Amino acid sequence: PQGAPMDKTAADGALPHGSTPGIRFEKVVKRFGDNIVLRELNFTVAPGERVTLIGPSGSGKTTILRLLMTLEKLDDGVIWIGDRPLWHMPRGDGLAPANEKHLHEMRKQVGMVFQQFNLFPNMNVLRNLIEGPVRVLGLSKDEAVERARELLDMVGLVDKIDAHPTQLSGGQQQRVAIARALAMQPKVLLLDEVTSALDPELVVGVQDLLRDIARASDLTLLCVTHEMHFAKDISDRVLMFDKGQIVEEGPPEQIFGEPTEQRTRDFLQAIL
Ligand code: ADP
Repeated sequence: PQGAPMDKTAADGALPHGSTPGIRFEKVVKRFGDNIVLRELNFTVAPGERVTLIGPSGSGKTTILRLLMTLEKLDDGVIWIGDRPLWHMPRGDGLAPANEKHLHEMRKQVGMVFQQFNLFPNMNVLRNLIEGPVRVLGLSKDEAVERARELLDMVGLVDKIDAHPTQLSGGQQQRVAIARALAMQPKVLLLDEVTSALDPELVVGVQDLLRDIARASDLTLLCVTHEMHFAKDISDRVLMFDKGQIVEEGPPEQIFGEPTEQRTRDFLQAIL
């Protein structure tokens, strides 16, 4: 049922557990043409930590997630996942650009849930969930199907296993997208405005599901959201961005309750 706490036993079997890497951005620069979106950005997310990024539109939040997904290439600096650089490989006592094999290995650690669900439209729910695990992780089809069932059970959609994405509501599609991300057994999970395309009555169910998943797993979580309740529920720490720089950071209660920076106060006023 929508909004009810997740069955923790189901979660235990289905969720990733084990050593979780942290994330570190070290003097990361990202430009689009003349537009310098990230300017020597530094920040760290500890292993298993759950961090929400907030800030005005255009401040670089999605770019940070896309860099971690290797959907964008960085221009300078280093992004670390655990003790390994994402976009580089060790060479001598320095770093060389990563080759495809290294990127492929690093990508396996990171999963993302998008605003627009991004399910494969020509595949039913089951195939959406087993395609990656079979092709990329090398699971047998039987193993992948078993995991898909566990995950669909966890998100409350086993009965939709044969449905096509177009037959599902937005909330159901997003639950499938969450299950699909977890089916890849990521160690880092990225959430990009995951409820902003949903009808209002479906938002809380998806948020509660993600909150329960975050609490029941040891995933390192990076979340972009404008929803303060969700940010409070899901994160240990909030980073307030403006123009590709961190303006202020702290526990959600502090950032939302008593922000010290004027830019944070202005931003919070604008989204309320
Ligand atoms: P946010 O998620 O905080 O709204 P984004 O990371 O989406 O911010 O965007 C940061 C800046 O980068 C914006 O100025 C945006 O126009 C620019 N940008 C993002 N993606 C691209 C792209 N593919 N090509 C050109 N500019 C882009």
